[in-house]
Amino acid sequence: MTGGTSPTATGSELLERYAGSLLGVFGRPQLVLSHGRGCHVWDVEGNRYLDLLSGIAVNALGHAHPDLVAAIHNQAGKAVHYSNFFTSLPQIELAERLLALAGAPDGSAVFFANSGTEALEAAIKLSRRTGRARMLAVEGAFHGRSTGALALTHKAAYRTPFAPLIPGVDHLPWGDGVALKQAFADDADHEIAAVFLEPVQGEAGVLPVDPGYLRLARELTREHGALLVLDEVQSGVGRTGSWFAFQRYGVTPDAFTLAKGLGGGVPIGALVTVGAAVTGLLTAGQHGSTFGGNPLACAAALAVLRVIERDDLLAHTRIVGEHLKASVAALDHPDLGPLRGEGLLLGMPLHRPIAAELAAAALTAGFIINAPNATTVRLAPPLILTTDEADRFVEALPGLLQELRTA
Ligand SMILES: *Cc1c(COP(=O)(O)O)cnc(C)c1O
Repeated sequence: MTGGTSPTATGSELLERYAGSLLGVFGRPQLVLSHGRGCHVWDVEGNRYLDLLSGIAVNALGHAHPDLVAAIHNQAGKAVHYSNFFTSLPQIELAERLLALAGAPDGSAVFFANSGTEALEAAIKLSRRTGRARMLAVEGAFHGRSTGALALTHKAAYRTPFAPLIPGVDHLPWGDGVALKQAFADDADHEIAAVFLEPVQGEAGVLPVDPGYLRLARELTREHGALLVLDEVQSGVGRTGSWFAFQRYGVTPDAFTLAKGLGGGVPIGALVTVGAAVTGLLTAGQHGSTFGGNPLACAAALAVLRVIERDDLLAHTRIVGEHLKASVAALDHPDLGPLRGEGLLLGMPLHRPIAAELAAAALTAGFIINAPNATTVRLAPPLILTTDEADRFVEALPGLLQELRTA
């Protein structure tokens, strides 16, 4: 059967139809999924997988969480969208809630977008309003794929086919305080508008920022009148066991971006401007979005924040993250290094370049993990992952690694 919506179509039939109808930018998807519940998803053939990636750090509450389902259902029954000619209670409540959770001072504000990339685009435009046009980012940085955000992203394979990108971006070595100081020392004409940093580099393989480097970036940007923009698209909304990763470092940015986990899977992004001076940089008419901040996405995000708080998922995230670190260390396996990262944004270093093969073997065994590079496995499970679920994966690891040795 082709063309219809046959419930009995197999995965391989559906993947053929995918190849015939979708742009090939994602390559061949690994599976055709049918539904999820909690920390598990099922494919169309009925196989179950423990989801240790959660849609790339998105499904903070796992799949089909009853509170998120109810919030979406209730809001959809009222209105999904109004446009930004109007506002709504969920939009205002979500903005207020984010500012409160961030401990943002009076005059701080939120702009809602629909993705991480769009949040970064808003931050780029914010930085241009300083009257300066240079931006500093770092090697390994990932800030999105639109032509603006891509200029901040470091990976050559993403950038080169689309050159020239917006000019004025320099990528400095990650964590190199001397290079950062030098960049500002060389900026006699005060052209640097902003420094963009991820508190934890996610796509680069879960690399937490050095706290001293982050503090230095804060000092230098403040001295030179440049903005410090922290990209918390991946690390924010409880992922590292605090609401926002910057709170672990005691550094307050001038602006920060959110997206992935915020809507629990419903697309939403946000730029938060900290303090009245930064907020005042963007004024009426200077930016916008048709969908951004619609009541459906905001109601979903409010539900995510409510459940994280009600169920104390920040503490839970820290506990399960530490448990994973300790149990992987206890394996004392020659292929594995100690887990990097905090909370449930973890990088598992491999001493051999087998991450892709390990992820493939894990998938066959019923575990979704991710290989951001050849020597790292990324774990970014739902924040509701239990220690028992985590144990199932850790217990399977030696067997999976053994399979790769004998393959
Ligand atoms: C995923 C990601 C982005 C891009 O977000 P999209 O929602 O894919 O546009 C930007 N910055 C960071 C740190 C990310 O992890």
